[in-house]
Amino acid sequence: MTSNSEIQRIVEEGLCIGCGLCASAFPEDVQMRLAPSGHLRPCESTPLNPEQNVQLKSFCPGVVHSGMPSDKISNPDNIDPTWGPIEKMVTGHSSDPKIRHKAATGGGLTAISLYLLESGQVDGILQVAGGGLKAYFGHSQLSQTREDVINGSGSVYASTSPLEGLLKILDTGVTIALVAKPCDISAVRLLGKKDPRIDRQVKALLTPICGGFFPPFAMENFLKSVGANESDVDSVSYRGEGCPGPTIIRFKNGETITKTYLDFWGTDSSQWYMPWRCRICPDGSGEAADIVSGDTWPNCEPTLEMMEGDLGTNVIIGRTSRGAEIMNAAIKANYLNIEGDAEPRDLDYWQPHLVKKKVTAHARYSGMRSVGQIGLSTIDLRTEELTKHMDSKSYQSELDGTSRRITIGKHDDDFTSPSG
Ligand SMILES: Cc1cc2nc3c(=O)[nH]c(=O)nc-3n(C[C@H](O)[C@H](O)[C@H](O)COP(=O)(O)OP(=O)(O)OC[C@H]3O[C@@H](n4cnc5c(N)ncnc54)[C@H](O)[C@@H]3O)c2cc1C
Ligand code: SF4
Ligand code: SF4
Repeated sequence: MTSNSEIQRIVEEGLCIGCGLCASAFPEDVQMRLAPSGHLRPCESTPLNPEQNVQLKSFCPGVVHSGMPSDKISNPDNIDPTWGPIEKMVTGHSSDPKIRHKAATGGGLTAISLYLLESGQVDGILQVAGGGLKAYFGHSQLSQTREDVINGSGSVYASTSPLEGLLKILDTGVTIALVAKPCDISAVRLLGKKDPRIDRQVKALLTPICGGFFPPFAMENFLKSVGANESDVDSVSYRGEGCPGPTIIRFKNGETITKTYLDFWGTDSSQWYMPWRCRICPDGSGEAADIVSGDTWPNCEPTLEMMEGDLGTNVIIGRTSRGAEIMNAAIKANYLNIEGDAEPRDLDYWQPHLVKKKVTAHARYSGMRSVGQIGLSTIDLRTEELTKHMDSKSYQSELDGTSRRITIGKHDDDFTSPSG
């Protein structure tokens, strides 16, 4: 059954990622809640009016996913056909060995955040730290001290609504850098086309490269599989303390269970659990961000040796001239250590799962439309052009596969099986 509410339709089509920007834009009418599926989802206390729905559809990542708007691109020659705008790309890590060790990979995002805060360019870093409505969720945090930024390092592979408080924070007049996932960054870039507060007060958009996260049912299964009762869990650290470092479940009684990164994710990436919106994501590489930071593992999986003691090296991409300037300044001020240059084809090797999603996105969206969904659109992501990497048989097979999955309900937030 299709709903009259745009927000409900987006949720029903499996396209809401729970970013929270609708709740931030319409705080009187929309609140983020824990849905029966266990995800954070928007709930309308008052139905949005037609004008609000038009506004919603201009930024919501369940409707549209954007790359870099053309007015933010300084040099069109620097657009890689697969990976989008790249002004500067290096491998490196935080200059502080303690941050490098604690952070998700090499602490690149933490180092840049600290540079922006401590050089006085921003009043705070809006980022995601562990915990929230559930112990294993993430929550948005405005970090205004070095300690807060460092405590917020690491990756939260769970539901979180990083944009829920964004506009309320901007209303106080502060300047910030935002660290959020590529879909969240797209939403903020799109909102910025209409709302001047974004360009005026959000001084930098930073993002981790993102392949998706664990849906709540999968996390609950994981906790059960290691003998943990969710109600006894105090916090979960998904990675860090090395690269990738262990997944650590901390209990309220002080005990801990420690597993490896691959115990958590599993070794077969085609069987990874993730929300439908992540599975069909057209851009996990943060094309709309000023700066992107990711892993440099061959084929996007750490080897056994890496899990036992790798120090962590990020690929760091400056996508705008502003992003490249910040990176250069953070290097000069000794926040960031550079190991070497990197090239777009290195990204093909480190992030093959994202190449596949970029190339198949158009076929998948056609599959959505073939079963009556409105589906997702893209802007400035070269989605149609990228289909040239598929022959017509593969295109049709992706289209059919998507429509078949939707027909059996795989797009549903309540669907509980691997995403493949
Ligand atoms: C959901 C998710 C999926 C990912 N998938 C991939 C992938 O496919 N390929 C890849 O190379 N890397 C992936 N990563 C990124 C990787 O885990 C590292 O986060 C990235 O390399 C940055 O490392 P860093 O050392 O610079 O980060 P840090 O210095 O530790 O900083 C991480 C920053 O990200 C913020 N953050 C953490 N979790 C979230 C979240 N859920 N939403 C928004 N912000 C968050 C933190 O607040 C912090 O500011 C993913 C990360 C996440 C959160
Ligand atoms: S994706 Fe974000 S903006 Fe869109 S409906 Fe979900 S929470 Fe709201
Ligand atoms: S995979 Fe895409 S939709 Fe999912 S969290 Fe990452 S950027 Fe957002």
